[in-house]
Amino acid sequence: LEEQLRKSDTLNVVGELAAGIAHEIRNPMTALKGFIQLLEGSVKEDFSMYFNVITSELSRIESIITEFLILARPQAIQYSNKDIGTIVKETMELLNAQAILVNVQMKLNIEENLPLLFCEPNQLKQVFINVLKNAIEVMPGGGQIDVTVKRKNEDQLLISIRDRGSGISQDKIKRLGQPFYTTKERGTGLGLMVSYKIIEEHQGQVEVESEEGKGTTFHITLPLTQ
Ligand code: ADP
Ligand code: MG
Repeated sequence: LEEQLRKSDTLNVVGELAAGIAHEIRNPMTALKGFIQLLEGSVKEDFSMYFNVITSELSRIESIITEFLILARPQAIQYSNKDIGTIVKETMELLNAQAILVNVQMKLNIEENLPLLFCEPNQLKQVFINVLKNAIEVMPGGGQIDVTVKRKNEDQLLISIRDRGSGISQDKIKRLGQPFYTTKERGTGLGLMVSYKIIEEHQGQVEVESEEGKGTTFHITLPLTQ
């Protein structure tokens, strides 16, 4: 519990910091991108290698800012009763192109007649995007991702996302959700932090089950009672 409290304090501080700087960085970024495009169009020599690096580094900054902004927007949150199946389906459609590119198939299994869930659908989509993206990214050789949506009990829903990727060692599972924890060369280490924060705000929990070399399952529990 102490560990959880500490994590939550860190998240709040990060969220407040984010609110301050994220907006400030957005505007100069837009200007930079515009001028670099202009420059690329007007220089005579072939500097395409440099331009590619500049453009990809700029997108990287942008994705960090975007993930921060999600944290920094708690005022705009609008909760309502929604169909969880639709939210999950729409998210999977968003990521389908990326999955197909690496031969990954996402299979959805939804229990029938699930009750509506009181939630912020855009934020939940953000969670599923982050978790599914991670799942796709650990399966470069392709394979199947199973998404299961069902009733866990009287008053909870369970959404499970199972991949057949690298898995995560026991000691590293604890580090998931820490700001900037990443093992990827081009990672931000913010996706899970944002996701954990959103699930926490929905009074839900995330549990991670993993076996190295076999794969990982993210179990997301959300309360049905309002
Ligand atoms: P990023 O994807 O930018 O690295 P995340 O917060 O999304 O940041 O994930 C943090 C780290 O958690 C990843 O770099 C990876 O090491 C680990 N991780 C997350 N999801 C999985 C998964 N499905 N399988 C294996 N490792 C994972
Ligand atoms: Mg990620």
